[in-house]
Amino acid sequence: MGSIRGFMTVARQSEGKEAPAERVKHWREFAVRHTPAESAAQASRCMDCGTPFCSHSCTLHNIIPDMNDLVMKGRWQEAYEVLASTSNFPEFTGRVCPALCEAGCVLNRVMDAPVTIRSLELAVIEKAWASGWIAPRPASVKTGRKVAVVGSGPAGLACAQQLARAGHAVEVFEKADRAGGLLRYGIPDFKLEKQVIDRRLAQMEAEGVVFHLSCAVGGQKFPEGVMNLAKKTVTAQQLLKKFDAVVLAAGSEVPRNLEVPGRQLKGVAYALEFLQPVSRRIAGDAVPELIDCAGADVVIIGGGDTGSDCVGAANRQGAKSVVQIEHKPKPPAAEDKLLVWPAWPNKLRTSSSHEEGCTRLWSVGTKRLTADKAGCVKGVVVTDLKWTLDAETGRWKSEEVPGSERELKADRVFLAMGFLSPSSGLLEAFGVKKTARGTADAGAGDFRTSADKVWACGDCRFGQSLVVRAMAEGRACAAAVDRALMGESELPGV
Ligand SMILES: Cc1cc2nc3c(=O)[nH]c(=O)nc-3n(C[C@H](O)[C@H](O)[C@H](O)COP(=O)(O)OP(=O)(O)OC[C@H]3O[C@@H](n4cnc5c(N)ncnc54)[C@H](O)[C@@H]3O)c2cc1C
Ligand code: SF4
Repeated sequence: MGSIRGFMTVARQSEGKEAPAERVKHWREFAVRHTPAESAAQASRCMDCGTPFCSHSCTLHNIIPDMNDLVMKGRWQEAYEVLASTSNFPEFTGRVCPALCEAGCVLNRVMDAPVTIRSLELAVIEKAWASGWIAPRPASVKTGRKVAVVGSGPAGLACAQQLARAGHAVEVFEKADRAGGLLRYGIPDFKLEKQVIDRRLAQMEAEGVVFHLSCAVGGQKFPEGVMNLAKKTVTAQQLLKKFDAVVLAAGSEVPRNLEVPGRQLKGVAYALEFLQPVSRRIAGDAVPELIDCAGADVVIIGGGDTGSDCVGAANRQGAKSVVQIEHKPKPPAAEDKLLVWPAWPNKLRTSSSHEEGCTRLWSVGTKRLTADKAGCVKGVVVTDLKWTLDAETGRWKSEEVPGSERELKADRVFLAMGFLSPSSGLLEAFGVKKTARGTADAGAGDFRTSADKVWACGDCRFGQSLVVRAMAEGRACAAAVDRALMGESELPGV
């Protein structure tokens, strides 16, 4: 710990942001990053607590106090080495992680001002890229074992990189035309510019990872709302014959539907049917199916992060109005820290997209969607909901507030109500047993599925989650596969 009184003398200072009116004119990242001196000052606030709740809260268990101390002392390369020892891609989490670590920081508990850990993580990794410290690390000894990874999201990429570094021949199969999973086609460019993924993919290729893009595993048929850009198919049997192990890191792609009258009207789409073509257009592709919100009244159903990304994208396209509705009640402005700290709290969160212009409604249920004469959606009929605790079941239940029915004007309606499971065809093709939720049934320790030679990790196993968890699952799964193939493993199990 470099500065004993840093937290008393230096105030928390978050990264700056371009003004909302300016940043909605483009799709680039808009954070104003800290200078090295600002990073050092922020790092000096770390108290190097005896029990680092921050590291415990981070699913990757990044060694945060050590990183902070090294940044404060200007020993950036060592800070990078500490960070890289637990995380394959800090440049992803440094941009999009909700910062579970900051919720767990003791300074959050005692003065509502945690260390700016996520910004420090990003500063360290970007300094490493700029300084040329990040080079391919191909394995010096090859094992002769072959592993296939299905899916190139953060789980698949982390798993593939770890296995390649352990000496295995790794091939990644991805049905999209570019690698990255939801980092590429899901999280908008204004949160994560895509060259950030490309430079990491180049490193992985130099380490020997082979990518098969536009290549679906298990079949070409996917449920409605799941993007498929595959031009070729590989069967489960082909993979099982060629490879010693297959890792399913196929995400949890099936979107939750809203079964109300009017769902099939023109202008109603799943959130990713809106967001994915937007990123493809920014990448330079011709995308005829692009949904344009210019001049439109937009209603987003679902109050979470995916909905918030739709808000940001709709505003950048020039929407006339944007409303985001959520059926659950408005969360409290602040958590009761005595009850929840250091756990991740349920509280009202205002994203940068919300700051750019959006009306948010809570405790609102959708009854039906209305149409104009051309069969296009023109409104969302909603009612207010009253939530009460059911004394018998102990569960919250909602009922409509009489007389509250009204219609919200809507030319575009996006459904952002979460994701249910991976596409079942893939799990069935490998004969993998599913959980009650439809995810791959595999243990958190060994990631092994019911099918011989098949492992599963990330959202495919855990269900819809976060980039940090997907990366942690990918790393731990790689260690489990390595152990199974070699009898022992030096890869960290997280
Ligand atoms: C709009 C949106 C915004 C988000 N924002 C954030 C955020 O800001 N921060 C955060 O931490 N998390 C965020 N998340 C969640 C996060 O992106 C996911 O939890 C994470 O990407 C899961 O990683 P994964 O590798 O398990 O799966 P994915 O990223 O979903 O990748 C799975 C990949 O597998 C491929 N695939 C599937 N089936 C097949 C098949 N049969 N053959 C070949 N390929 C296949 C898919 O095409 C996909 O590329 C967001 C999610 C969404 C939808
Ligand atoms: S990955 Fe997320 S939780 Fe972990 S240190 Fe980075 S910002 Fe914090």
